[in-house]
Amino acid sequence: MTEVNVSATPTWHALDAAAVVAQVATDPQRGLSEEDARGRLAQHGPNRLAEVQPPHKLLRFARQFHHLLIYVLLAAAGITALLAQWVDAGVIVAVVLLNAVIGFIQEGKAERSLLAIRHLLAPRARVLRDGRQHDVDAADLVPGDVVLLASGDRLPADVRLLDTRNLRVDEAALTGESVPVEKSVEAVAVEVAIGDRLGMAYAGTLVTQGQARAVVVSTGGRTEIGRIGHLLETVETGPTPLLRKMATFGRVLTLVILAMAAALFAFGTWVRGYAAADMFMAAVGLAVAAIPEGLPAIMTITLAIGVQRMAARHAVVRRLPAVETLGSVTVICSDKTGTLTRNEMTVQAVVVAGNTFTVDGAGYAPQGAWRGVTAGELLSPAARQLAQAGALCNDAALQKHEGQWTLAGDPTEGALLTLAMKAGVDSAALRASRPRLDVVPFESETRYMATLHRAADDAAHVAYVKGAPERLLQMCAAQLDLQGDLQALDTGYWQSQIDAQARAGRRVLALAQVDLPLAHAQLAPCDVQHGLTLLGLVGIIDPPRDEAVRAVAQCREAGIGVKMITGDHAVTAAAIAGQLGLADGGTAAVTGAEIEACDDARLRELAVRATVFARASPEHKLRLVRALQAEGHVVAMTGDGVNDAPALKQADVGVAMGRKGTEAAKQAGAIVLADDNFASIACAVEEGRTIYTNLRKVVAFILPVNGGESLSLLVAVLAGVALPILPAQILWVNMVSSIALAMVLAFEPTEVDTMRRPPRRPNERILSSFVAWRIGLVSLLFMAGIFGMFELALVRGASLEEARTVAVNTLVAMEIFYLFSVRYLKARSFTWQGVKGTPLVLVSVAAMVLLQVAFTYAPPMQALFHTRAHDVSTVIEIVAVGFSVLVVLEVEKWLMRRLQP
Ligand code: ATP
Repeated sequence: MTEVNVSATPTWHALDAAAVVAQVATDPQRGLSEEDARGRLAQHGPNRLAEVQPPHKLLRFARQFHHLLIYVLLAAAGITALLAQWVDAGVIVAVVLLNAVIGFIQEGKAERSLLAIRHLLAPRARVLRDGRQHDVDAADLVPGDVVLLASGDRLPADVRLLDTRNLRVDEAALTGESVPVEKSVEAVAVEVAIGDRLGMAYAGTLVTQGQARAVVVSTGGRTEIGRIGHLLETVETGPTPLLRKMATFGRVLTLVILAMAAALFAFGTWVRGYAAADMFMAAVGLAVAAIPEGLPAIMTITLAIGVQRMAARHAVVRRLPAVETLGSVTVICSDKTGTLTRNEMTVQAVVVAGNTFTVDGAGYAPQGAWRGVTAGELLSPAARQLAQAGALCNDAALQKHEGQWTLAGDPTEGALLTLAMKAGVDSAALRASRPRLDVVPFESETRYMATLHRAADDAAHVAYVKGAPERLLQMCAAQLDLQGDLQALDTGYWQSQIDAQARAGRRVLALAQVDLPLAHAQLAPCDVQHGLTLLGLVGIIDPPRDEAVRAVAQCREAGIGVKMITGDHAVTAAAIAGQLGLADGGTAAVTGAEIEACDDARLRELAVRATVFARASPEHKLRLVRALQAEGHVVAMTGDGVNDAPALKQADVGVAMGRKGTEAAKQAGAIVLADDNFASIACAVEEGRTIYTNLRKVVAFILPVNGGESLSLLVAVLAGVALPILPAQILWVNMVSSIALAMVLAFEPTEVDTMRRPPRRPNERILSSFVAWRIGLVSLLFMAGIFGMFELALVRGASLEEARTVAVNTLVAMEIFYLFSVRYLKARSFTWQGVKGTPLVLVSVAAMVLLQVAFTYAPPMQALFHTRAHDVSTVIEIVAVGFSVLVVLEVEKWLMRRLQP
C-alpha cells in the first residue's frame, strides 16, 4: 500500500492536477487498485461525517418532564402531600414518572426507526478502480480514488477536478451561494476563497450540469464540510402539522381545564360549603381526569410505526409531514420509464430505408435473430452500420455472469448492445478499433447523444448520434439506402415508420452519423445539428409492470387521478397508457410543445382533463404541478433528474426515485422510492391513509375516557354527592388502561375499504364534527355507566370504596368494548372480523383484564388505590354495561349509515 500524506496539504486548489495526482499517488486513468483502496480505507477511515450525537439519555428523560401538564400534575402532587394525602401524592408522582418512562421509550423507538431509514438513503459514488467503473457506497471512498461525476450527483468527498465537461456545481450547502459555479481544472492562488476555487469541488455540493472526472483528496471529517461540522440531513424530523396542532390543542385544553378546576373549587367551597381540602382533591381529580395524558405519546408512536411500515413497502419518508399529506393526495403524476414500466428494454424492430426487420429474443441475452437473416453473413450494409452505431454511441456494458446477462448503465443503451450482438457485432472489439475521441452526453432536454470516433479507414472522424427520432430528423439531410449508399431524406417515409413503431407501444430511437474532418478532435453540440445521414430507427419494447397496472386501477378506485408525464414519444406514451388502463379509449397525449403554447388558465383546464403528457421536460412538470394545485388538487409528483428538483419541491408530496434518481432529486423529494416502482407510491398513499385513520381512532378513543371521567366528577360536585372515582384511580385508568388499549390502535392494520374511499379533504380537521359528536356521545355513555353503577352499588348497601371500585371497573369494561367499536369508526364492528380483532387487540384486552383483577383483588393495590373486592354477579353486570356501549354505538353507526349513505 502506498502511504499518502494528505492532511498536510490543504491547498489542493493551488496545485495543478498532475501535482495532485502525484501527491495522492494514484493513476488518473485506472484509479486505485482494490487492494490499495482497502489499505487506504483502513488508514483514513470511512468517508462519513461524525453523526451528530443524539442528546444524552438522561437529558432525553429529563425533557419528558418539560410539559405544562406535568407541571400541573407535580403542583397537584405537592399540595396533595401538604394535605398529608400521602397515597394520592405518591400515585400522582408515580404516574408522572410512568408517563416520562413511556415517553422516553416511545421517543427512543421513533428515533431508532428514523435512524434505520437514514441508512437506506446512504449516498453512492461512481469510482474507477483497477481500470473499471464501480458503483460503491460513498463511505468507502479514500483519498486517491478517481471518481466520475454527472449532473445530479452530490459530491461524495472533496475532490480535485481532472477533466470537466460543462461542469457546474451548486455550492450553496457550503458557501450559501445558490447560483451554480462553472468549474474547470485550473489551479488558483493559495489565498482564494472556497467559492472561487475553480479546480476543486467539495463534499455535499451538487453537480447541476455536465460531467467530470476527479480525484478524491479529502474524505470524512477532513472535508471542508466536515471541518465546519455541518451534517447534511438525510431525514428531516420535527413535528408534523398535525402533531403541532395537537400540541396547541393540548395546551389550550390544559388551561381550560385548570380554569374549570378553579371554578369547581370556588363553587364547592363557597356555594356548597365543602371543606377546602376535600374540594381541592376534587379539583385535582377533575384536572387529571380531563387531561389526556397519554395522547401525545401515542400519536407520535402511531406516526413512527406508519413510517416504518412505509419503509417496509419501499417508500422511505424523508420529511415527516408528507406522511399526513399522502392521505389526501388527489393526483399522482408519474414518470413512465422504470416507474410504470419495467425499464427492461429489448429492441423488437429495426427500420432502415426500404426494409423493416423484426428481432427475436427478450432481455439482454444476445439470443434471437434478426428475422429472416442469419447472423454473421447477414444484413444489408445500412442495417449493419446501424447496429455498429448503436454499439459505439453507447456508455453501457453487458456482462455474462453465471449464465445471466447483466447490464451496467442505461437500459436503452443495453438494448442497443444486445441488438448489435444479435447482428454478430463484437462491441468490445469494435470499441477498441474505433476509439471514442469525445462525447456530447444525453440530456433529457436535448434528447440525443453524440460520440466522436476515428473512422475505420482513418481518413476522417465520424460522429454517431442517437436520440428521439423527430429531433434527429431535423438534424438529418440524407439517408442510407439498403446498399449503404447516400440518398435524399424521405421524411414522409420515416414519419410513418415512427408512427407505426410508436403505436405498437415501442420506444423509438433514431441513429445517424456524419463525417467530420480529421482536425476535428472535439465534439460540440453545434457539430451535429445539420447535415447528418440517417441510418434508421429502432423500436424498443419496455413492457408495463404488472403491479403498476393493478396499482393504477387501485388508485382510480380510491378517487386518485393518475397522470403519466414522460419524456417519451406521444404515441408510444399513449399506447403504454392504454396498456396500463390509464387512458380510456386511447386518448391522445398532450405534448410538451402544446404545454408550452398554453397560457396558465388554459393549462389548468388541460392539466385536469388530460392523463398523458409526452415529450415533457422538467419545466413542464413544474407548470403542471402548479396548474393542478391551482385547481385545488393535492399532487404527488415523481422525479429523478437534477432538473426535477423544483417540481418535486413544489408538489405536495415530491417522490424521488431511489435507484435511478440523482442525489439532487432525492434531496428535493419528501419521499424516496427504494424500488422506483409506481406500485410503491400507491402503497405509500394507502399507508398514509391508514396512519391518518389510526390517529383519528386514537383521538376518538382516548378523549371520551377523559370526557366521561370529568363529567362524572362535575356532576358529583354540582349535585353534592360523593365522587364516584378518586384522582388516583383516574390516573390509573388514564395512564394504564387507556394507554395500553390505545397503543393497539397505532398498530391497526389497513381497513379493507381504505383504497375505495375518496381522498380526505386536505383541510379536514382530525376533530371533525363527526369525531367531536362521537367523543361527546361516548363521554355521556361513559358518565352514565360510571354514575349508574356507582349509585346502584351504594343503593345496594356497598361501602363507598366498593362502589368506587365498581365504577372504575365499569369504566374499564366500557373502554374495552369501545375499543372494538372504535376500530371501525363508521363500519359495523359486529362482524366476525370485528369481534375477533387482531391478535394484538386480544393480547391487550387479556392484559387489561388481568390488571383490573389485580387492581380489585390484590391487597397492595387495594391499599394504594382504596379499592375493594366485589362478587362475580357484579362482574357480570359490569361486562353487560360495557357491552351495552358497543350495542348503542352499533345502532348509532347504523343510523349514521342510513342518514348519510
Ligand atoms: P420518463 O420521463 O417517463 O422516465 P423517458 O425515460 O422516456 O421517460 P427520457 O429519458 O427523457 O424520458 O428520454 C426521452 C427520449 O430521449 C426517449 O424517448 C428517447 O427517444 C431518447 N433517449 C432516451 N435515452 C437515450 C439515450 N441514452 N441516448 C439517446 N437518446 C435517448
